[in-house]
Amino acid sequence: MGKKDNLYSYVIAYGSLPQGKRSFRFEVNDAFFRRFEGSEISEGRVSVRVDAEKAGSFMTLAFAMEGNVKVACDRCLDEFLAPVAFEGVLTVSFTGDAEEDDFSEDEVMNMQPGDAEVDLAQYIYESICLSLPMQRLHPDDEQGRSACNKDMLAKLRELQQEAQRVKSENSPWSKLSAGGAAHK
Ligand SMILES: [Zn+2]
Repeated sequence: MGKKDNLYSYVIAYGSLPQGKRSFRFEVNDAFFRRFEGSEISEGRVSVRVDAEKAGSFMTLAFAMEGNVKVACDRCLDEFLAPVAFEGVLTVSFTGDAEEDDFSEDEVMNMQPGDAEVDLAQYIYESICLSLPMQRLHPDDEQGRSACNKDMLAKLRELQQEAQRVKSENSPWSKLSAGGAAHK
């Protein structure tokens, strides 16, 4: 499958859509996340349901997303599957006149009157990223123990101690005392 095919699988063909309501389903997969350079999500599966309502030059899209994505744990750096869930409404305006529209709290995507398609990939990606918790940590297991990579934690602790040792050796104070010792 080429890049183009992949790109178009998150598109709603607004131009050929009749007025009224319709639902769409999109499946987000590993290839989806690879499209976004520097993505902190390496893999994942998310089901996206979009309830669309087309009315005149506007389209309201109600999103419901649910799935699991792979992210690095803040504590041990191992990747783990984090559950994500997102609900939001996006209003798409085809008036080409963003300033006169007042959508208050809803998010708005501005299109031009002749535009026939809406690519939702960026919106879906950003919404998934937004739904990730600020702190990403391995969830505890059933016994309430941390599921973090213990070897990695031990290694990180060693590195930290080593860094601290180097830092104190390079401090002016330690040089001073070492120099003082040499003169004795
Ligand atoms: Zn961890």
